[in-house]
Amino acid sequence: MAPYCSDCYRCCCCCPKRTSHHLRDMASSDDGSDSSERRCMKSNLYRTVEDHQWPIVYSPEYNLSVLGLEKLHPFDAGKWGKVFNKLEANAMVRTDTIIIPNEATEDDLLVAHTPAYLNSLRSSSTVARITEVPPAAALPNAVLQQKFLRPMRLQTGGTVLAGKLAVTRGWAINIGGGFHHCSGGDGGGFCPYADITLCLRFLFLTNKITKAMIIDLDAHQGNGHEHDFYNDGRVYILDIYNGSIYPHDERAKRAIKRKVEIRSYMGDQEYLEKVRLHVAAALNEFKADLIVYNAGTDVLINDPLGRLSITPDGIIRRDEIVFEEAKQRSIPIVMVTSGGYQKETGIIIADSILNLWKKKLIQWPAAEEWAHSHPLPELSST
Ligand SMILES: [Zn+2]
Repeated sequence: MAPYCSDCYRCCCCCPKRTSHHLRDMASSDDGSDSSERRCMKSNLYRTVEDHQWPIVYSPEYNLSVLGLEKLHPFDAGKWGKVFNKLEANAMVRTDTIIIPNEATEDDLLVAHTPAYLNSLRSSSTVARITEVPPAAALPNAVLQQKFLRPMRLQTGGTVLAGKLAVTRGWAINIGGGFHHCSGGDGGGFCPYADITLCLRFLFLTNKITKAMIIDLDAHQGNGHEHDFYNDGRVYILDIYNGSIYPHDERAKRAIKRKVEIRSYMGDQEYLEKVRLHVAAALNEFKADLIVYNAGTDVLINDPLGRLSITPDGIIRRDEIVFEEAKQRSIPIVMVTSGGYQKETGIIIADSILNLWKKKLIQWPAAEEWAHSHPLPELSST
């Protein structure tokens, strides 16, 4: 078999970026070490799940606590736990009816990443640059691995598993993930691993899909997956983002099939009209086997980084539109939660998932029946 480019996953003859470092990376994967196909075959990310579990992926270990440094970043380091807690409080899911993912290993990550990039994460200054928390550069790398990169690898494993679940069950949600600024060769914008790229590569390599659409509605341009699927006809990218904020990645923009740049402080009505119009048009234009929905909540009003003016109801309506359009066409959809930098975003994500459930856009009767017939033990009062 021909060696494959570790960046765009094409055979070496077709890779549009045959730079010297690329060829070096390809050579390193062709000297007897595992190919990407073998890595997928050996991976534990597609773990066994029970029929009574919702296709909702989450681990309490998604949440971050890095010696207080997480407080130096505007990111709510516990937002994923807030989503789960609210879904649980509303009797949708329980700890025994959701799916806990496996952590992506180095071998798994090599399906999307270059060895050079993964090695660079062994430097604390690289991790500090990616997290945009300069004092993190002074921490021992082992601390950053355990407290930051391991939770991110769990969330990355969650996106890969959720992708497979969406194909087999029609929909899935990873309560974390959506690191859309990270590509196979570089991280940035709080995104250390390219979970969307990894999710799609696993599905392509295991022949579960042949074509996919990424609908990226985070407030920022999704330059990571755009670099990774540049010139790749199997992946159609719709990206609706604020054109006046980070990352202004002009090369990556050329990978977007439907690019919708919106102005700062746009409100619900104009935004939702654009979402409705462009999601429907994209899905009419390209017949995908799967939608990856990057549902960032940094479009929320008063978000200091997203600089848009979407209300909580607007976000809930937005997610509903995307799931409605997918369901009308019977296209499997996997949602990841991506950016969202205010303390209330976790609650809004949960409210949106509960709304999708109430509107029957997401359902899993086996989990509800199982929970009904397996009541949780009463807490002891002694
Ligand atoms: Zn964002």
